[in-house]
Amino acid sequence: MRTQSTSRVAVVTGGARGIGLAIGEWFLRHDYKVVLLDIESALLDRTVSEIGRPDDVLAVHCDVSDPAQVDRAAEQVIARFGRVDALVNNAGVAIFKPTLETSFAEWRAVMATNLDGAFLCSQAFGALMASNGSGAIVNIASISGLRASTLRIAYGTSKAALIHMTKQYAVELGNVGVRVNAIAPGPVETEMAKLVHSVAIRSDYYDTIPLGRYGSTEEMANVVGFLCSDAASFVNGQVIAVDGGFDAAGVGLP
Ligand code: NAD
Repeated sequence: MRTQSTSRVAVVTGGARGIGLAIGEWFLRHDYKVVLLDIESALLDRTVSEIGRPDDVLAVHCDVSDPAQVDRAAEQVIARFGRVDALVNNAGVAIFKPTLETSFAEWRAVMATNLDGAFLCSQAFGALMASNGSGAIVNIASISGLRASTLRIAYGTSKAALIHMTKQYAVELGNVGVRVNAIAPGPVETEMAKLVHSVAIRSDYYDTIPLGRYGSTEEMANVVGFLCSDAASFVNGQVIAVDGGFDAAGVGLP
């Protein structure tokens, strides 16, 4: 039998590790029920068992780029908690390669998760929030979506499009009570950063970020949590750079 949770319910895609996991933990500390979606089933199961709050956390194995899996995930969330109050489109992949060496398959792989995934989850979970007349969506973009640079033809384009998608949804869902915003993180020490930030990129970031360091996953989660909370009740269609001043400094990406 479906039960309607009295707590707010937050869905975080790519929640098995990194920034997504920190966002899930923020929601747990603020008394939400949390749904972590991830394509990496074994990692997700391990993460959820380490969190150890089975009444408050639901793990959903889901590839966000697959419409059928996203629809099934939405059904699972409703069956378990009966409502959705927040969606964070955090699942993402990065391929850093010179433009002319980037294959169509690599381009499609990045677009599938970073863009199709955010679209599909916003459609499925946005409809549930719209039917309740309230909710918040936060998209995790990147400073690579604010500035063009080398190596990021697929990644940067996907994040720039995600920023525009944020505004499109904000314009239409605002009048049914659902706010849609984005954050654009600067570099954050995660598995993704280990994969794509070369020694040269790292050292350039330290030089060009006014605060002189990488951000932490918690620093991203704090801003996402704020955007989902009532404290941000008149914030809609915005992108907030959480980047130690990198965007303000106006320098080029390494
Ligand atoms: P990460 O690789 O550590 O975590 C990403 C998570 O997404 C993983 O658990 C992965 O399994 C999951 N995932 C990937 N494809 C998926 C799919 N198709 N369906 C479901 N889950 C999927 O990365 P992170 O650094 O924590 O990045 C999180 C988000 O923040 C991404 O959107 C990324 O682009 C963005 N971001 C990261 C940085 C950084 O420096 N780390 C900077 C700017 C933006």
